[in-house]
Amino acid sequence: MTEPGPMPASGRRLVLFGPPGSGKGTQAQLLEARTGQHHLATGDILRAERAQGTALGARVGGYMDRGELVPDEVIIAVMAAHLQGLERTGFIFDGFPRTVAQARALDSMLTAIGRPLDGVVVLEVPMGVLETRLLGRAEAEGRSDDTPETVRKRMRIYQEATAPVLDYYSSRLPIVRIDGDRPVSEVLSAVLAATGGITPRPV
Ligand code: AMP
Repeated sequence: MTEPGPMPASGRRLVLFGPPGSGKGTQAQLLEARTGQHHLATGDILRAERAQGTALGARVGGYMDRGELVPDEVIIAVMAAHLQGLERTGFIFDGFPRTVAQARALDSMLTAIGRPLDGVVVLEVPMGVLETRLLGRAEAEGRSDDTPETVRKRMRIYQEATAPVLDYYSSRLPIVRIDGDRPVSEVLSAVLAATGGITPRPV
């Protein structure tokens, strides 16, 4: 009888976690290209809704411009609508969950489709570096929520509402911490090496 081989990286189901500016979007895109894991970013989904002028986009715009979290029930409904197809692939959530309520809802939704998370990857970057990166991004991309005042607010909200999500996961899932204050390619190598060590949960 042949032993089952290691699960391909494409099959892993991960949350990419970290403060605003830690490089989640960049790394998730590179991971998707490298492994085939599906990348789902709530911020990108919401920005696309705004660009298309949908009712949802209008509803979330004010929160985003102020650097505040969109209410949990709205985000949870958005994610529920984007989970179709995820039972067939691995995936990386980027920017979600951002509150413990979202994390609980995500667990229920993934359990319902028989695809629980395998692990959490945390990108760690010092606060001063994050602020410099976000203000640089404001100039480069013109994002409405990267002004000095909203950057500070987003950092505070991260500490208060989002950091506790890691405590929620700490007793439930493997958590790997990656030094994100390095060149993009080095961070990617570290993430690939670390996630390769996460054992996928049986489905
Ligand atoms: P991001 O691109 O991930 O930094 O998200 C941009 C903005 O979208 C955030 O500042 C929030 O206003 C909103 N947003 C994105 N994801 C979430 C989430 N999981 N919960 C609440 N608000 C979110």
